[in-house]
Amino acid sequence: MKQDLLGLKGMSTDSIKNILDTAKTMKLILSQPNKKTPHLQGRTVVNLFYENSTRTRMSFELAAKYMSANAANITASGSSVQKGETLIDTARTLNAMGTDILVMRHSMSGAPNVIAPIVSASVINAGDGMNEHPTQALLDMLTMYEHLGSFENFKGLRVAIVGDAYHSRVVRSNIYGLNAMGADVCVAGPATLLPQKMEDMGVKVTTDVDEALKDADVVMGLRIQLERQKKGLFPSVREYHKYFGINEDRLKLAKKDALLMHPGPVNRGVELSSSVVDGEQSVIDDQVTSGVAVRMAVMYLLSRGGLY
Ligand code: ASP
Repeated sequence: MKQDLLGLKGMSTDSIKNILDTAKTMKLILSQPNKKTPHLQGRTVVNLFYENSTRTRMSFELAAKYMSANAANITASGSSVQKGETLIDTARTLNAMGTDILVMRHSMSGAPNVIAPIVSASVINAGDGMNEHPTQALLDMLTMYEHLGSFENFKGLRVAIVGDAYHSRVVRSNIYGLNAMGADVCVAGPATLLPQKMEDMGVKVTTDVDEALKDADVVMGLRIQLERQKKGLFPSVREYHKYFGINEDRLKLAKKDALLMHPGPVNRGVELSSSVVDGEQSVIDDQVTSGVAVRMAVMYLLSRGGLY
């Protein structure tokens, strides 16, 4: 039976560990001058993106190509979506062309869950609205894993996630994944950008960023998602940065060697100051490399029925 990756909710700790270990091996391949492997030879990977993307789309495409798959991209703006074709018809059409893996991003939460049962291709969620972005959380955890050295060190790891949690699919997938690995997650931001009942997901929630950052092992900024906000949820970008932005002084509250992460794209001077983005603790570029490795691992495991 085909396998899909729709989210990290409910994924077992063993499955997460298996993906991360596979991705670690894939990262070795990425460091070679010759990155071609035969893992997906003859398979077809199609990226169907209804929302903009730089990192996610390009890394799925490169991951597919590195593993010798046929890779193709389609965006809503250049397709028959503009002529009124529905998501279901578009997905069926791509499936009928021999797609083996359909990577999709959509502004509607749950869109991949609608498509997965009606196509024979494996569906990978590359971000659905405010719901989940599973490969992002996996690449975040791979980046942490490489610094921690072992899965044991995830236990009790203090991870502070700061920013627009309300609109963030990244925070939700990270909470599911990090909880499964035994980390202690604290989410912080202005009250208007914190979802109600986020505590019920098993995390600490606070409006006090300094409190969240204190003694953290990992500090993750989240982008202010202006495209998903219908009304101003904070007075101004400048004020946001002053009270909730991560700058050098705030970062000093975390452990000395804490990792600074961000899924990108970064709004410099809003959720993170430029000095911390470019600072020594920043692993933002490592996250990008981890992204290619994780996507290679996920597509490889899916294609042989070994993801779960
Ligand atoms: N790139 C991530 C996403 O698509 C984070 C962001 O856009 O803020 O969710």
